[in-house]
Order: sequence, then structure tokens, then C-alpha cells
Amino acid sequence: MLTDTLNSDIQYLPGVGPKRAALLRSELGVTTVGDLLRVYPFRYIDRSSVQRIADVQPDSAFIQVQARVVSATLMAQGGRIVYMRSTSGAVRGDGTIPGYNGATPSLKEIKYNTVKRLSVLVDDGSGQMEMVFFKGIRYTFERLEPGMTFLFFGKPAMFGTRMNIVHPEIDNPVPVGQTAQGIMTGVYNSTEKLKNAGITTRVMNRLMDNALATSLGEVRETLPQYVLQEKGLVSLQYALKNIHFPTDAEALRKAQYRLKFEELFLLQLALLKQKYIRSRGEKGIPMPKVGPAFNRCYESLPYELTGAQKRVIREIRSDMMSGSQMNRLLQGDVGSGKTMVAVLSALIAVGNGCQACIMAPTEVLAQQHFANISRYLAPTGVEVRLLTGNTRAAARREIHAGLEDGSIGIIVGTHALIEDTVRFRKLGLAIIDEQHRFGVEQRARLWNKNTDGVPPHVLVMTATPIPRTLAMTLYGDLDISVIDEMPPGRKPIQTLQITEHKRPALNKFMRDQIALGRQVFVVYPLIFESEKLDYQNLQQGYERIVADFPFPPYKVAIVHGQQPVEEKTFNMDAFAAGRANILVSTTVIEVGVDVPNASVMVIESAERFGLSQLHQLRGRVGRGSDKSYCVLVHGMKVSKESQKRLDLLCQTEDGFVLAEEDMKMRGPGDLEGTQQSGLPVSLGIASLARDGRILSDARDYADFILAGDPALEKPQNEPLARELRKDKYEKHDYSQIS
Ligand code: ADP
Ligand code: MG
Repeated sequence: MLTDTLNSDIQYLPGVGPKRAALLRSELGVTTVGDLLRVYPFRYIDRSSVQRIADVQPDSAFIQVQARVVSATLMAQGGRIVYMRSTSGAVRGDGTIPGYNGATPSLKEIKYNTVKRLSVLVDDGSGQMEMVFFKGIRYTFERLEPGMTFLFFGKPAMFGTRMNIVHPEIDNPVPVGQTAQGIMTGVYNSTEKLKNAGITTRVMNRLMDNALATSLGEVRETLPQYVLQEKGLVSLQYALKNIHFPTDAEALRKAQYRLKFEELFLLQLALLKQKYIRSRGEKGIPMPKVGPAFNRCYESLPYELTGAQKRVIREIRSDMMSGSQMNRLLQGDVGSGKTMVAVLSALIAVGNGCQACIMAPTEVLAQQHFANISRYLAPTGVEVRLLTGNTRAAARREIHAGLEDGSIGIIVGTHALIEDTVRFRKLGLAIIDEQHRFGVEQRARLWNKNTDGVPPHVLVMTATPIPRTLAMTLYGDLDISVIDEMPPGRKPIQTLQITEHKRPALNKFMRDQIALGRQVFVVYPLIFESEKLDYQNLQQGYERIVADFPFPPYKVAIVHGQQPVEEKTFNMDAFAAGRANILVSTTVIEVGVDVPNASVMVIESAERFGLSQLHQLRGRVGRGSDKSYCVLVHGMKVSKESQKRLDLLCQTEDGFVLAEEDMKMRGPGDLEGTQQSGLPVSLGIASLARDGRILSDARDYADFILAGDPALEKPQNEPLARELRKDKYEKHDYSQIS
């Protein structure tokens, strides 16, 4: 008989049932038995040994003891005893608990809503230990009858003079002569709901055992035989068996490697296949020449382009010439000179009879871009305009008309550019600065701006250095250019950290710098959850600075997100033009703002910022010829992790090094600048932070296979084609990522 247990509903797996099935579905996304097998342990415990209580050291790792229940006590708030039962049979309540009328309740009368804690004393002959429960109290209390023996598993800690385990896992003792399954047992990620439904690690182990027993034989290999051979991978059946119940450490290693490779390889294959399909489609606007405007701008540059800038411009040019659509991510640290690359790329579009738009995430940035770009474009005669939410109606109408008749060559702006009313005669290039501030959908709207339906070339610029491994996954179908060289003459920024006590010294330092004609940024954190408090801090900080730096001679400007736009612009301009000595602000200045005369960046409550945000802020100084400083002011108590961030920042100015470290510390999911874009497919076993080598290898191999079989039509690649038809790869339209 042909069975299909693998694809059958998880509720029919022994030990599951409809209630648990619903939870497994909602909490872990498991619908079938096959899905369950793809839920991997996140760590393993050697459970082969049972320890004597007398030998257990407090604060050791997970331990297992086998012991008899001596007593079990239900306690109310403040440690008052509601009910206690013990091997000597004594039953006691202290009678003072409200609701019992001063009497000791019977077992049935216990009101569990007054119970805060269950304390169970156990004894294994060598010593005693306490097991403590705050949840699932009723169930546990009824199960742990005094006199009975159980296995307790968990992490011991010292509480007063007694050792305890909070919320140990409980199991019936293993009968003599029979050992628990496997030497190592997997531990699975759990959620509150799963735990409350009794789906503990032990239960997961049992479910996995059942799933393997009933359906492992049906598991079909996902990778072609030749891939397994060339890459030295174990079979999927072997891997699944050993990922859940490793026979030994070596088997576990092989299983993990196989599953990680498979995961990253299929993902890269999906991403790269999109790229192959797109690059074969002839839908890009061909731009064969550079044109006179480009040349005129290039010749009048006030400086020589860096080698990296030149290389990147060559990469962009060759994309735009190619006849297929460009989709390129340009990464470059703050101050690496991305604007000039954007301008020259825009001029290539103009030189080929097209228009270009440059989109910035904020009003302030759009204005600054516009000012800089106008300057660069002056010798070219190309018409450039600014369009933002604040553009007045009359000017807006005129700009709309100019974009439609083609008289405007380059438009700089904010989100206002993607409104439906904005149409182009022929948009040849869309440049998006600081891409992570835009949602995927907003970006996709740029694609439909041309009346003839041919999409513009797209250049996405970001100053958030993304580690290579993450970029390959996030933007797997984009080409990536990196400006990895700073313009010459940059002086290193000296970064130091001080506690708030050193404020007088900091003030003196600021006065000295201002006396030298320099300007100072002071930044306060603004974290969404505590916005109100943060504004209070900002306001207080501002008042303190005004008191410490009185007018005259000092002028202090303040900029934050709650000001009306005019006020913000006015204050920002005052600082940019050198009329204010100090700019107090929230992180609105984080991106792009360029004030070369500012040489000091003071970051208040620096421990509250993320690593790459600190790096971005620091990048606001060091843009001029003066020596620059970044001062991280932090509180007396700083968590270990925050301290590490501050130390790292003082050690290096290399954004890519910091990004790598950030990813290691926080995991790629939380990496700043990537929350919005998110990973296209969530990873089940591989880690972008740790498995970079496997990822590179998987990507190269995917590329190699696609080069010989771009549509995966060859018979030997049939398993791969079948995998990529699965929902998780198909439901994402990677071509719309940029
Ligand atoms: P970002 O990559 O952060 O956008 P910008 O384009 O704003 O950097 O450039 C930072 C500063 O460096 C600007 O003042 C710009 O004029 C200057 N700059 C850019 N390229 C060069 C270069 N090749 N040589 C000297 N200065 C440069
Ligand atoms: Mg910039």
C-alpha cells in the first residue's frame, strides 16, 4: 500500500491531536508531518547521565537528577502556605489565606488563583533539592505526588542555602536496563503558548521520534545525486534522522552541514535564477554613450575621483549600456562620495535622451542633495529641480509639466516623487539614496513611471554597510558595487567615551573647539517606545547646553522631528551656514547632512544607540580638513553588550568591520537598516553571521549550475526545479525588490 504520511496533517501524528495541531501551525508554521521534521533543534544536551544531587554544583549547565518527591507546597503571595502535602501525609494550610474562612481547604477546594508558586522538595538519597514552578501549577502539583520518583532536568541555581531548579522538565524515570533515546537530545525553540499546552522539549522529542518512525522512509532527496557527490553531502534522510537524534557528534556535524548547505543553496538558486531570467529579458533602456553633459561635469570636477568611484562608475556605465535593466546596489560608507557617482550616472541617462530622478528619505537631505547637485551641474546646463512635500502648488504644477515634456533633466526629491501625478517623458534612471527608508512597494512604484512601460535603470545607494553574506541574501538578485576607498586627505576621527561625570571637561573641550572656529553636534537618542521621555531629555539637554553656552557669544540651534518644517529648516540652515556653534538634535541628522566645519560629534546616552547608528552619526564629522572628534557620553551603568559596542566604535572607523561585528552580536534579523527589507526567506538552520563560508560556496555553486542550465530544465536538475516551485520561493517576486 502506498502511504503518504509525510504530507498528512500533523494532527494525525500520534501525540498531537487537533488542539496541539492548531498551536503547532500558528506557533511554528507546521501543518504536515514533513513540516515538523524541518523544525530543527537549536542546541543539544547530553542527557546520558543522571547526577547525584550531592554532586550538583550550583550554576552548572543543565543537569538531570532522579529523585523522590518529599513534599509539595502551594504558596500564596508573600510565601504564605495555601496547602502542603508530604510523604508523612501531613496536609496543612496556614488558614490565613482569604477565601478559606480560616480553615484548611481540602484538595478539591484549593483556589489556584491565589497560588503564586509551587515548591517541591525532592530527595535522591545523596541530598535534597527544590523544584520551583510559577506556571502550570495545578497540573504539576497533581502529578508530583509525594513518594513518587521522577527525572528532573534543568539548570540549577543557588537560592539562599538551598539549590533549586526553576521549571525543570519532568519525566517518568527510565526503567532499569533501558536508556533514554540517543546520547544527545535536541532542544527546540519554544513559545509561551507551546509550553502552556504542554509541548515541552520532551514532548517535541517524542513527536519527532514518531514522525521519523512513520515517515522518514518517504522523504525524497531534494538535491541531485551529483550535487551530493560533488559537495560531499549526506543524504536528506540521514540528515533528518541525525539532526533530531544524533548518533554521535560526527553524525550531527554532517547532518548540520548538509541541511545548512541545502538551505542556503536553494535560496541562492532562487535568487540567482530570477537574475538570469531578468538579464535575458531585453527590457532595459539601452544607453550606448556618455554624452557631453557627463564630460563637461567630469572635466570641471573640483577633485580627482577616487579609484573606487571610477570603478563603480564603470560598472554602472556598462550596465546602462547593456540593453538590459540595471538593478544595482551601491554601498559606500558615509563620506565615501556616493553623491558624485549618482550625479555622473544621472548624466549618462541625460546624455542618452532620458531623465533621471534622485530620491532621498527626508526633506533636509533632499534639499542638501539639490544644493550640491545644482552646483555640480552648473557647467552642464542640465535643468535640475527639487520636488518635495513642501513644494508650493504653482511650482509643483510647473515641475510636473517640465517632467512630462522632458525639459527637466534631473529631479531631486522625497517621497513626493513617487506620487501618481508625477509622470516622466522618459525616466531612464531612478536613484534611491538610503534605500532602507523606503518600503519595497514604494520602490516598485517607480517602475511604472514611463508611459511606454519600459522600466528605468535602478541604482540603490546605501551608507549602511551590509556584510557581504547578508547582502548576498537580502539583495541576491541585485548587482553590488562597493566604494571601499575614502577620498584622500580625510583625517581619522578620534573617538572617546566618557561618563556623565566628565561633563565639565567636555564643556571646556567644546569651548576650545568653538574658539578655533569649529562647530559641534550634540545628539540625543530618540527611541520609539519612550518617545515622550526622550523628548524631555532632549529638551533638558538643550536647556543645560544653553545655560553652559550662553548667548552671547554662543549660539545654540535645536532640530527635532516634532518641529514644524520651517523651523527645522531654519535651524538646520543656521548651523550649516555657521551661524550657530552647536546643533542639538535627535537622530534626524543621522543621514547625509554635510557640514564640513563641524568637528565634534557628542552623542548623549550613547549606550542606547546601535552600533551602525553610532557609526552613521560619527560620519557627520571628519568631512572637513580639521581634526575631528566623536565623544560618546554614557551613564555609570552600561550593560556588557553596550560596553562592547562603545569599545568597538573607539577601536575602528571601518563601517564594514563594524557591520560584521554588529551582525555577530545581534544576529542578522536585527541588523539596523534591514528590519524593513527583511530576509526574503527565513532561515531554519543556517546563520548568516556564522555560515558565511557555506553561503559563498553555495552561491558560487548555484551560479555554476545556472550557467549551464539557466531554467533548470535538464533532467538531472529536476529535483531543484521541483524545490523552487515550492511556495516559499515562488511567492516572492525578487525582481521587485529594488
Ligand atoms: P556620501 O557617500 O556619504 O554620500 P558624499 O557624496 O556626500 O558622501 O561626499 C562626502 C564629501 O566628500 C563631499 O564633501 C564631497 O564633495 C567630497 N568628495 C567626494 N568625492 C571626493 C573625491 N574623489 N575627492 C575629494 N573629495 C570628495
Ligand atoms: Mg550621501
